[in-house]
Amino acid sequence: MRIKTVVIGYALALALLLFAQHRPDATQPGSFTGVVDLTHPLSSHQGVAGKLAASPVRSAAIVQKMELRRTSTAASSNTNIDAPAHLVRGMWTVDQIPPERLIAPLSVLDVTAQVRRNPDYEVSVEDIAQWEQIHGEIPPGSVVVARTGWGTRWDSPKDYRNIDKKGVMHFPGYSEDAAKFLVEARLALALGIDTLSVDPGSSRTLAVHQYTLAHSVYHLENVANLERVPDAGAVVVVAPMKLEGQVDGPVRILALTRR
Ligand SMILES: [Zn+2]
Repeated sequence: MRIKTVVIGYALALALLLFAQHRPDATQPGSFTGVVDLTHPLSSHQGVAGKLAASPVRSAAIVQKMELRRTSTAASSNTNIDAPAHLVRGMWTVDQIPPERLIAPLSVLDVTAQVRRNPDYEVSVEDIAQWEQIHGEIPPGSVVVARTGWGTRWDSPKDYRNIDKKGVMHFPGYSEDAAKFLVEARLALALGIDTLSVDPGSSRTLAVHQYTLAHSVYHLENVANLERVPDAGAVVVVAPMKLEGQVDGPVRILALTRR
């Protein structure tokens, strides 16, 4: 009787072990069937973005802070990464972002319809709730990217920057509330967007930049080809050059997808 119990116990343990070993691992490259390049070519639009900080509505303090710390002339002109040190001295520079933060589940918030009605649209907590109604909770440690539809303007610098008569840019970004929710309640590693900035174009204080960077969350801006990735289920590989001491810079972003 005792031996029988032991044998059954052993068989059960073996079965559990085998099951665990054969469970498909979401991060294994073999389980992906496609790769989508989320990067604009570096040379096609040099100077499209120009100086993001230079806007008549931007407060002088934040402009000075950004310009002082900016180290890369190429950043903001193409698909770029902002390291936490972008605004906050002593935080990670591009080369210091831990590599385990550069490969993560990709969660895409689609706000294309909202942006069509309002170019100043800010991604909201409600948009996140709607995503979660369909896909479940945003996986902790995600790279969250907003698909605003703005990428279709990339070939026209004028439309992409969308500057009004007063010199103020108009394009969508994240609301401060949504950014805080993603960082605090969903432990997002990064925020991304297919516009010039995670803050909306008309932002005065760059509140999303200030909050997220201070919480070690990096940004991906001018993200490309978001219409080609699913809202949930992909894994993103973020590969900036390991530029020592840089606070921002060009980045290659690849999404691994499943059919
Ligand atoms: Zn930025």
